[in-house]
Amino acid sequence: MENEAVSKNFIEQIIDKDLAEGSCKEVVTRFPPEPNGYLHIGHAKSILLNYGLAKAYGGHFNMRFDDTNPTKEKEEFVDSIISDVKWLGAKWEGEVLFASGYFQQMYEGAVKLIKKGKAYVCDLTPEQIREYRGTLTEPGKNSPYRDRSVEENLELFENMKNGMYEDGAKVLRAKIDMASPNINMRDPIIYRVAHIAHHRTGDDWCIYPMYDFAHPIEDAIEGITHSICTLEFEDHRPLYDWVVRELEYDNPPKQIEFAKLYLNNVVTGKRYIKKLVEDGIVDGWDDPRLVSIAALRRRGFTPESIKMFVDLVGVTKSQGAVEYPMLEYCIREDLKLKVKRMMAVLDPVKVIIDNYPEGQVEYMEVPNNQENPELGSRMVPFTREHYIEREDFMEEPPKKYFRLFPGNEVRLMNAYFVTCVDYKKDENGKVTEIHCTYDPATKGGNFTERKVKGTIHWVSATEGVKVTSRLYENIIDEEKGVYNEDGSLNLNPNSLTVVEECFVEPELAKASKEEKFQFVRNGYFCADMKDSEEGKPVFNRIVSLKSSFKL
Ligand code: ATP
Ligand code: MG
Repeated sequence: MENEAVSKNFIEQIIDKDLAEGSCKEVVTRFPPEPNGYLHIGHAKSILLNYGLAKAYGGHFNMRFDDTNPTKEKEEFVDSIISDVKWLGAKWEGEVLFASGYFQQMYEGAVKLIKKGKAYVCDLTPEQIREYRGTLTEPGKNSPYRDRSVEENLELFENMKNGMYEDGAKVLRAKIDMASPNINMRDPIIYRVAHIAHHRTGDDWCIYPMYDFAHPIEDAIEGITHSICTLEFEDHRPLYDWVVRELEYDNPPKQIEFAKLYLNNVVTGKRYIKKLVEDGIVDGWDDPRLVSIAALRRRGFTPESIKMFVDLVGVTKSQGAVEYPMLEYCIREDLKLKVKRMMAVLDPVKVIIDNYPEGQVEYMEVPNNQENPELGSRMVPFTREHYIEREDFMEEPPKKYFRLFPGNEVRLMNAYFVTCVDYKKDENGKVTEIHCTYDPATKGGNFTERKVKGTIHWVSATEGVKVTSRLYENIIDEEKGVYNEDGSLNLNPNSLTVVEECFVEPELAKASKEEKFQFVRNGYFCADMKDSEEGKPVFNRIVSLKSSFKL
């Protein structure tokens, strides 16, 4: 990590070279999502990489929707994507751009290719086209329509545009090389007929360009210098280069591929998330158990933590998956000094301090974050009755248990030393209340004349507030792996625990939506942005405090 500042990733090295050679004057990048779903953590990597490069090199970054396939695209996704990209902190130049805004130029590009004898209208059926394409080991064969004249092609393409053919009846193909070892170069389809309304252009078009033809044009029109995409497009690069060359763009963009971000044992695929949503297993695309950007935000992850994570993962050309605990590490690091450390009891059992005056409320001054004095302090009410965590009391403690048990003295965090004198159980043997006495001389908890080994947190039973908290585990049963043999997901039945009886300090009841805290000993929590109400927050546990990841 120490070398991070000096050792540049392979994309930065390419850019440095292009700038030095003068083939690039100003770095221009883009994020080109297709509006057909919500963005996930993998997209965050692409966004922050593209935006980060533009920023680092003093260039600019475009936000452009790759909306050339109207069958799957929706305005709802456009809105969610814009909001996610903004939230991540990526700033684009000018307006949000749409590939569909370039349909006319793409059409003109196709006509130009036809005129150069580089494209033809083909009447083969989709099955025949597949058959003629050949295989990895065998060359393809030429379509019988390959040698149509320029005039005929122009007329037929015009007819395609004018809606004279059914969907699939004719396509426009680039005339490249049916014997190319790269199947993408075997006369790829560049335009198809599809009588479908588009979410932005409505019924203006009934022909739509294919991705491999459209994308380089979009990049070229916008003056993108480095068109960064993921590895699966590596074999498409010759076609990308062919398109910008044949359309004679000045300073054509350069495609660069990097490895996608994958998280082990985490569901990222749109198809699977969609199914979880449709089957009602999760509460929408932003369910805090998912890793869509909206879900991470709702869970309580910050843009800074996601950036830290993406930076830690780095940019490479070799595919690999990283562990989810690394993302957890990043949010802990980010929140460590930023948020207040408060007391909340998730599994309450009552403690009564027998020698404390009934009805008395004493306010203890508590630092908000011991490691960051800038966060100040707050007053926490102390009373005769409290809640502590059930696991902080044992009737018969094992060795090395230093918390509360009969006869033992512990520190109530920031308050007093208390000694357990008695406890009561119900008919099932469940402890219902614990009786203690306190020592007034130990106020504040910093008393040094006597040592206690255990410090436990507490919430006043009469001044504290009852809220709902939600604890999460991976939605996948990690022991069994992500997928079953039939391709379905191995779900963890315990991925969500709703704690209805969570007692918190009064100040926590005032939490605003998305406000984050450490609940001491219990983890980092965030007030849910959807389910919280004024004075009645619902907390999501972002992450516990224990880490299995080490840097
Ligand atoms: P998915 O295949 O996961 O549904 P996608 O390819 O459909 O994603 P697009 O909207 O086409 O999503 O992607 C927008 C950009 O995000 C593309 O440049 C794509 O390469 C990049 N991207 C998608 N998934 C990842 C990932 N896991 N890691 C890094 N970049 C990604
Ligand atoms: Mg895609």
